[in-house]
Amino acid sequence: MVKPFVPELVYIEPRALEYPLGRKLKKKFTDMGIEIRETTSHNQIRNFPGENHFQRYRLAKSTLVVGVRKTLHFDTSKPSAEYAIPLATGCMGLCHYCYLQTTMGSKPYIRTYVNVDEIFDAAEKYMKERAPEPTRFEASCTSDIVGIDHLTHTLKRTIEYIGASNLGQLRFVTKFAHVDHLLDAKHNGRTRFRFSVNADYVIKFFEPGTSRLNERIEAARKVAEAGYPLGFIVAPIYLHEGWKNGYREMFEKLEAELPDYAKKDLTFEFIQHRFTKPAKKVILQNYPMTKLELDEEKRKWKWGRYGIGKYVYKDEEQVEIRETLSGYLKRFFPEAKLEYFT
Ligand code: SF4
Repeated sequence: MVKPFVPELVYIEPRALEYPLGRKLKKKFTDMGIEIRETTSHNQIRNFPGENHFQRYRLAKSTLVVGVRKTLHFDTSKPSAEYAIPLATGCMGLCHYCYLQTTMGSKPYIRTYVNVDEIFDAAEKYMKERAPEPTRFEASCTSDIVGIDHLTHTLKRTIEYIGASNLGQLRFVTKFAHVDHLLDAKHNGRTRFRFSVNADYVIKFFEPGTSRLNERIEAARKVAEAGYPLGFIVAPIYLHEGWKNGYREMFEKLEAELPDYAKKDLTFEFIQHRFTKPAKKVILQNYPMTKLELDEEKRKWKWGRYGIGKYVYKDEEQVEIRETLSGYLKRFFPEAKLEYFT
């Protein structure tokens, strides 16, 4: 069982102490006996100690930087929402395939932002621009926000902020089961709480440092009981020996554990495994022993964002994935909605 994240090292940017949350976190981490260092900017943080790359990488992944979000321009977040709301970046999970390895490059540490009210002001602006259309915000584009929120409660505040809005909707996804503090948040039904789920094989070999499937399902049950709309992202869908059985078992477990009322308003998103050439290089550096299959020859090349091509499964495999998983969905959750397969 993965325990709630506790950073090994904390950096605090001086400007963060101008905000109540920055001061609160400083006191909290001091009381917890965690080493705290000051840094003028997270860009100054370099050279994590360790005998090899993996040790340095692991330490960086359990380092938390308390800082101020300067860019209040929100990225778009298709297909699941209009905008990404930037509450944190980075994650302490050690998933081999994680795309954050490429996007965060040499800065794999976690950053949490304390200027939450300014972030909300920016969100307000985006909502006004789209009014009377609703605006969906995705909170987990650059981190697994639930995994650090028991420390900061930033997500909890965001859930309540969106809950009190007329046009906002919030979504996020997690591989962590530490949801208890979010259960009494006044979400007002405006937040869709999603869990990332997968076949046992994928979780066992590629998702170290995250909650196991049964823990995620248990957390999903609690979240449903707390009245949140619920969703599951099956990602990355990864072909391996016995994959059809593996994914069927996953659906069976979900079906058996969830209360019936949660099955009525349930969404699923299916995302097949993909990688880019730069990602492959970083993955093999961070996880040289990985079993993850990254053979370009076995895949189909597809244009990606920013002109970087990605390798997805071949057409006939994609058809098989889609048919197999859609079949399970119909069988186990006939009332659920499949939002997309990509
Ligand atoms: S939990 Fe999500 S964000 Fe964290 S390492 Fe795994 S895939 Fe990446």
